Amino acid sequence: MLVMMHAQASAEQIAAVCRKIEEMGYKAHPIPGSMRTAIGITGNRGPVEAAPLEAMPGVAECVPVSKPYKLVSREVKEETTVIDLGDGAAIGGTEIAVIAGPCAVESREQAFAIAAAVSRAGARFFRGGAYKPRTSPYSFQGLAEEGLRILRDVREEFGLKIVTEAVDGESMGLVEHYADVIQIGARNMQNFPLLRLAGRASKPVLLKRGISATLDELLMAAEYILAEGNYRVILCERGIRTFADHTRNTLDLSVIPAVKRLSHLPIIVDPSHGTGRREKVLPLSRAAVAAGADGLLIEVHHRPEEALSDGYQSIVPEDFALLMAQIRRIASVLERTVAPA
Ligand code: PEP
Ligand code: MN
Repeated sequence: MLVMMHAQASAEQIAAVCRKIEEMGYKAHPIPGSMRTAIGITGNRGPVEAAPLEAMPGVAECVPVSKPYKLVSREVKEETTVIDLGDGAAIGGTEIAVIAGPCAVESREQAFAIAAAVSRAGARFFRGGAYKPRTSPYSFQGLAEEGLRILRDVREEFGLKIVTEAVDGESMGLVEHYADVIQIGARNMQNFPLLRLAGRASKPVLLKRGISATLDELLMAAEYILAEGNYRVILCERGIRTFADHTRNTLDLSVIPAVKRLSHLPIIVDPSHGTGRREKVLPLSRAAVAAGADGLLIEVHHRPEEALSDGYQSIVPEDFALLMAQIRRIASVLERTVAPA
C-alpha cells in the first residue's frame, strides 16, 4: 500500500506517518515527488489496515498498489528518478548519460588511454570491470582490487564518474568503496542475496537485465534493492537470448517505453553486449536514444584486437566520438542533450 501525503504536508507529519508504519510492524519508504511525498509500505504479509493511517494529519489517501512491485512503480512517483552524482553527471535527467570504457580494466596505461579519449568526446562516466563474470573459468577474470585502484585514479585524473561491477559480497564492499556506481551484471540479476547487499550500499546501482529475464523479473530484481532502502537504481537493457543468430543477443529496445510506463527508474541501453558486434553499436545507439533511453553504456577500446575481453564488440575512440556527435543531434529532436566534446 501507498500512503499519499498532501502537497502541503510537513516533514514532521511525514515522519509521524513513517513512525506509525514502523509501529505497525512494517518498513516505511518515504519517496518525495515533485508534487507530494508518497510513503511505500513493505514487509506486510497481508493487506495493511488503512484506517489508522488515513486518520493522520497530512495524509491525503491510502492507495493499494496494483503491481507486484511497489517501490519501483510509477504509482509511487510520477516523475522519472534522476540520479545525480554531481559535477554535471546525472542519469535520468534531460542530459543523456554516456558511460564508456573497456570491458575490463587491463592495465593503468590501457585505462588511462581510453579514459582520455572518451572524456574528450564528452562521456561523463567511465566503465571497466575489475571483477569479470566470464563464461569460461580460464578467461581473464579481472584485476580485482588493483583494477579498482586504477579506476579511482582515472576519476582523479579525468573527473569521470566510475561504474564497475560487483560479483559477490567481498567485491561489493570494495566496489562500494572505490566506485561511484555499482554494476550488477546480467548473470547476477536474480542473485537475490547480492541484490540485498546492493540495497544496503551507499552508492547507486546499475542493474543489468538478465539474459532471459522478462520485464517483470527485471523490475522485481530492482525492487529487492529499493526494498533495502537504496532508491538510486538505474535499469539497463543489454540484450536477451533469442533464436536470432546474426547477433550475440537481441537488443530489446521496446523495453524502454514499457519501463517508462511502469516505473520511475531511469533506463539505459548497452548496445555493446546487446549486439556483440562492433559494427552494430553505432546504429543501435542511435536507435536507443531515439526510443527514449536515459543513457548508453558503450565498450570502447583503443586496441580492440588486443583486448582481454569483448574486443569484437568494442569500438575504437574515433568511432565513439562519431557516436557522440550523432546522438547529440538525435537527442535534440527529443529536447534532450548530450554533454559537449
Ligand atoms: C559488462 O558490462 O562487461 C558485462 C559483463 O555485462 P553483462 O552482465 O550485461 O553481460
Ligand atoms: Mn563486456
